[in-house]
Amino acid sequence: MIEFEVSDKDLLARIGRFRTKSGTVETPIFLPVINPAREVVKPRELWDLFGCNALITNAYIVKKYFGEKAKERGIHGILDFPGVVMTDSGAYQILAYGSVEVTNEEIIRYQEEIDTDIATILDVPTGWGVSSDHAKYTVDETLRRAKELENLRRRMDIAWVGPIQGGCFLNLVASSAREIGNLPFHIHALGSPTPVMEQYLFTVLVDMVLTAKMNAPINRPFHLFGAGHPLIFPLIVVLGCDIFDSAAYSLFARENRYLTDYGTMHLKDLEYLPCSCPVCVKYEPRDLMEMPKDEREKNLSMHNLYVCFSEIRRVKQAISEGRLWEYVEMKSHAHPSLLQALKNLKKYSEYIEKHSPQIKKRGLFFFSSIGLIRPEVTRHVKRLRERYSPPEWAKILILIPDLEAKNTRRRGLYRKIVSAICKKAGLDPGVAHVCFYSPPFGVIPMELAETYPLYQYEYAYPPDIESIKHVAHQILEYINRSQYTTIILLVEDGWSRDLAEIYANGPYRDKIKIERLPLTSGVKKIIS
Ligand SMILES: [Zn+2]
Repeated sequence: MIEFEVSDKDLLARIGRFRTKSGTVETPIFLPVINPAREVVKPRELWDLFGCNALITNAYIVKKYFGEKAKERGIHGILDFPGVVMTDSGAYQILAYGSVEVTNEEIIRYQEEIDTDIATILDVPTGWGVSSDHAKYTVDETLRRAKELENLRRRMDIAWVGPIQGGCFLNLVASSAREIGNLPFHIHALGSPTPVMEQYLFTVLVDMVLTAKMNAPINRPFHLFGAGHPLIFPLIVVLGCDIFDSAAYSLFARENRYLTDYGTMHLKDLEYLPCSCPVCVKYEPRDLMEMPKDEREKNLSMHNLYVCFSEIRRVKQAISEGRLWEYVEMKSHAHPSLLQALKNLKKYSEYIEKHSPQIKKRGLFFFSSIGLIRPEVTRHVKRLRERYSPPEWAKILILIPDLEAKNTRRRGLYRKIVSAICKKAGLDPGVAHVCFYSPPFGVIPMELAETYPLYQYEYAYPPDIESIKHVAHQILEYINRSQYTTIILLVEDGWSRDLAEIYANGPYRDKIKIERLPLTSGVKKIIS
């Protein structure tokens, strides 16, 4: 029985188990592309040396080279691979060469006859740089072919992939995802993102993937065709891609290119091999350069695969620890396009918040204003706005900045601060309500100061200007929906004073009284 069961989640990523007739695979999973006509690394080696239990090959190429023989021996026999085999239909060849001399019906039947585990209809990839009319045609034609599947398929034990088209036309991607999503497919795939990835247009990739994800059934695994550079694994997993495949490990090796999780190097530029896989432990860059081309290609392919599989394991470990955001933020600094793509998640912060876990096993690390996109921040801002109102007795609002070790949140200390401030201003401390303010969460009412994750996080002080503006904005939003008669903002030298400056010349100048945080020297004593 074909099933997808999710056991762990972080952001839109999930650890899942997808059951097929040849075994269960754990997602997120990277499927190496095997060209059965040119096996540089043999499928059996993938199984034996890499513990790789699933791969993808092209049904069109298998048909062309093996024809009837593959029907007799089965795809697992032809490849000598006991794991899960996914077949693509030849759609990529349509994209690359214009047409393929095979019909949807033939390729559906053929995939059943060669006993594949995961099969793909003969979709029509949209491609890149095409007109919207052509893109619309690819969406409609792919949908027509997708609808043919129900009448053509004869076996019920094969999982079928429903490809989503539309390219960079997001309205078409959305309608394609909805229409294909209404059909009984087991997996959805986003077609033709390869040119987008090759040109490092990761911001566009985020838009394409999330548009497809938001419109396709979320309980089905999501496949990204042609994603095989470890550089982008953390980002695409964050976007909710469960399965991805690529021949990059082998194509790059053919051109003497060496993959790392932070980019691609040319072998001739390497003084050292920055990796500890069996290949890199055995050879120096010069050894690789001097060996015969075939041997070098094989060794580089092996190294490239080791790097891909290691990166997947690191991403999965980050999901299980609940620190995928920290991981993707760190990895996104490998290339400006990646960081830009991560920033583009801001557009989707509400969707991401909706699907992210509420509680994690550990506290959060915030490094800069990029962390403001995190679902935990979106959630706090939203909940404070929609569900929180200050206590009825509260007439005076005292806003106290968080210090680095959150010392001002200690009951003994903030009470002393309130009493000192009220004494100085001649106010009644009995009606003073304390809210802490700090990046990244903004306003934290005293009653919530110890709830997760409002206390369980660490922040890299001092905050950048975007984070300060964010906090300033949150304070204003909070004040505007409250009924306090007096508002006192306490500041000390540094970021909290910079924040107060934002109000100095604006319409809130008279409404917000700015006072120096008292007992600051006392706080320092408490810290020591
Ligand atoms: Zn290596």
